[in-house]
Amino acid sequence: MKKRVTIIGAAKSGISAAKALAETGADVLLSDVQDRRHIEKALSEASLPTNVTVETGGHTENVLSADYIVLSPGVPPNIPILRRAAEMGIPILSEIEIAYRLSRGKRLVVTGSNGKTTTTTLLAEFCKSHFPKVFLGGNIGIPMMDFALKTSDKDIQVLEVSSFQLETIVEFKPDIAMITNFYENHLDRYPSYKAYCDAKERIAMNMDSSGWLILNSEQQMMHDLAKRTKAKIAWFGLNSDFTAVPRVTSISGTVVFISENGKTTELFKEKDIRIPGRHNLENAMAASSAAILSGVPAEKLLQIVQTFSGVEHRLEWVRERRNVQYINDSKATNCAASIIALKSCNGKVILIAGGRDKGTDLNEWKESVRKLSTGVVLYGEARERFRSCLEGLIPLKIASSFADAVNIASEWSKPGDTVLLSPACSSYDLFPNFEVRGKAFRDLVNGLPE
Ligand code: ADP
Repeated sequence: MKKRVTIIGAAKSGISAAKALAETGADVLLSDVQDRRHIEKALSEASLPTNVTVETGGHTENVLSADYIVLSPGVPPNIPILRRAAEMGIPILSEIEIAYRLSRGKRLVVTGSNGKTTTTTLLAEFCKSHFPKVFLGGNIGIPMMDFALKTSDKDIQVLEVSSFQLETIVEFKPDIAMITNFYENHLDRYPSYKAYCDAKERIAMNMDSSGWLILNSEQQMMHDLAKRTKAKIAWFGLNSDFTAVPRVTSISGTVVFISENGKTTELFKEKDIRIPGRHNLENAMAASSAAILSGVPAEKLLQIVQTFSGVEHRLEWVRERRNVQYINDSKATNCAASIIALKSCNGKVILIAGGRDKGTDLNEWKESVRKLSTGVVLYGEARERFRSCLEGLIPLKIASSFADAVNIASEWSKPGDTVLLSPACSSYDLFPNFEVRGKAFRDLVNGLPE
């Protein structure tokens, strides 16, 4: 019997899923709440096969005539049509679950609050130095479904996954999994910090002693998780216990090393890593650990860390103008990431913050802003809550638009300063995503007169 599948969400990964499932012979309904004109371009570029039907402007009853439903990342699992589907017993699977079932090869999977994309990208570079075929994807711009049907047993998949994607996994089982860190994030979507961490922990829920779980030794919650999981544990961290067994990747003085049951191998020196900041040192250690566990020889890593220059919109240098540095950290969509950015900038910082408020606690961020910046320009939906939190602590200016924020910051800055966009908020109030916000920042900065 031909399978009937409904896909909820006609964004990039939904469209990829529709194409791949149609290729397996299924009849597919792709359903989206948005008006057709918003997604027309993506749909026509995708040239979908005839066994894919598209409905837009809302989810009809047809959604429920399916053997199973595939949920695109970003679609909340509690929308009414999905609640009805669940009552009717229709399985609801995430796009990564389906891609997992359709794909083959070794899966190296990264999740965590911050550092996912940097770590995943670097890990893929490490793997490419040794394995003939490496697929990079997941929550990183290339949906897993894009390549699921092209994979073979010998291939390596390096995957970034978000807590949203992990919420609906069933059989998804990484060979090597990593949680970079836990920080408060997405409290607009999760009832509590614990619920958010629980969703991330699902990465290891199907793992057993055949797999490795790589954890950050700096965080107590990771040690609690280590006691619960069946997977083998490899630790990484700036202050890891060197004797931790069976594996640990850490730094001693200025040398990054990996230790396996007490036998220590030097990987590279801190100064070899091109990407700036202590957080990136952690990312490099975590990626090294996963690469070595997957079979990449330790001696191949040095050359790659020496050349890897990071991923755009993450502490990306944009321009020097009138002796002021402009840095684009649009990807800092939460307070923890914005704090890291403030710590990584040398000198006086004019911070541009704001966007869509995630409702997280601002106390720690407020302290870092007070200590590490000289002035703050606030824009977007979050500006009133942020203003009341920072008022009286630090000079503040309120911008009427994003462009206004860049203008105010540039007029306010003095030679030797850094203008840092590190918003501590998502971009969705004014932009479709953080990349568009980061590009807008770059364009505005590059458009400032000499
Ligand atoms: P993610 O994909 O998890 O959002 P990115 O690699 O895109 O992570 O980095 C986003 C931001 O998070 C960076 O701009 C930086 O400010 C911060 N960040 C990156 N790595 C770490 C880390 N290991 N610990 C804390 N913060 C980090």
